[in-house]
Amino acid sequence: MKGLIEPVNYELTQLNDHHNISRSEQLKDAILNSLPSQIAVLDSNGIILAVNESWIAFSKENSQLQTTGQQFIGMNYLEVCQKSNGPFSEEAAEAFKGILAVLEGTLPSFTLEYPCHAPSKQRWFLMKVNPLPDFEGAVVSHSDISERKAIDQMKNEFISVASHELKTPITSLKGIVHILQLSFEKKMKGEVGKLLSTMDIQLNKLTKIIGDLLVVNTIPGKKIYLYNEKFNFKNLVKETVQNIKNISPLHFFSVNENESVYFVGDRFRLEQVITNLLTNAVKYSPQSNQVIINSIVKDEAILFSVQDFGTGIEKENTFKIFEKFYRAKTGFALGGLGLGLFISLEIVKAHKGNLWVESEPGKGSTFYFSLPLNT
Ligand code: ADP
Repeated sequence: MKGLIEPVNYELTQLNDHHNISRSEQLKDAILNSLPSQIAVLDSNGIILAVNESWIAFSKENSQLQTTGQQFIGMNYLEVCQKSNGPFSEEAAEAFKGILAVLEGTLPSFTLEYPCHAPSKQRWFLMKVNPLPDFEGAVVSHSDISERKAIDQMKNEFISVASHELKTPITSLKGIVHILQLSFEKKMKGEVGKLLSTMDIQLNKLTKIIGDLLVVNTIPGKKIYLYNEKFNFKNLVKETVQNIKNISPLHFFSVNENESVYFVGDRFRLEQVITNLLTNAVKYSPQSNQVIINSIVKDEAILFSVQDFGTGIEKENTFKIFEKFYRAKTGFALGGLGLGLFISLEIVKAHKGNLWVESEPGKGSTFYFSLPLNT
């Protein structure tokens, strides 16, 4: 009997497998087609294996020719990006590098925000590239983020106007405080003198906040302008640490440096980065008073770090804290705008360097930046 049943079972299994495969294909298509983003599935060489309906609809909308899904299948998407020579060729080149890196496994995923302004519409898109299992290819998606970009722009315009408006009265208030300080010079040890210097300190804080807001708005497309000069990095560290020591008398700062090094970059902006890291180290260490600064030259780059023994940062926030206006819960009570690290990262990136943090909640944080010497 067994001999007769076996072939029937075998055929039934095959039928079931076939049914399951076409069923899972249908499910996959239904899911892909229900998504509003334009999605393409690539093989490991960048060849398009499948596109969803949004992808086809978008191409129809943007081309005079009639497009069908089949037209895209077999096309090499890497080549499409590489050969792009239109107004957005810079973004296409960046997309090419990102997709290639994900396909080769050198990047776990890749995202890129890019403009796509057709004559009829000004639009922005977010491209995401995620790998398929076992490096078998990648999924590329493009989502319309024009609405968020428009809101961002309105917010930036508001911040820009508000901070410019605030600058004038604060500058004049600072001038008045200095005139009063001079008039009360002889009595500076008295109550009036103390009040005036507190006022001056608070006005300096306000000036810094306004400065930060203005810098955020002068980073068009996340690029920052540098006024480069050659300077001794060791002196910059020494001066900046001294400035912070003056305003943080309760903290101890130890500096470890291995050699004098000349660096070509924007001294003022880098001072801003070091100041941000040091003031954060003090601000987020209410229970501890030690700050360790290391500045060494390693692998043809300056490696600078600031270590504190304060609140620390939760693992899931170690990237988010570098985003514009992001503040971790641990910092809520301590005041701030969540701009210092965002601006610092932009400044370091503009010098072709990197800024990152290693931290353990409750134990403290070490912020590092590297600046390549030969760029
Ligand atoms: P701000 O300090 O004005 O909030 P930052 O951009 O400098 O803005 O920092 C962003 C967030 O990162 C802070 O709100 C805080 O939660 C966290 N953070 C920064 N530096 C430290 C540090 N040294 N220790 C712990 N948390 C920190």
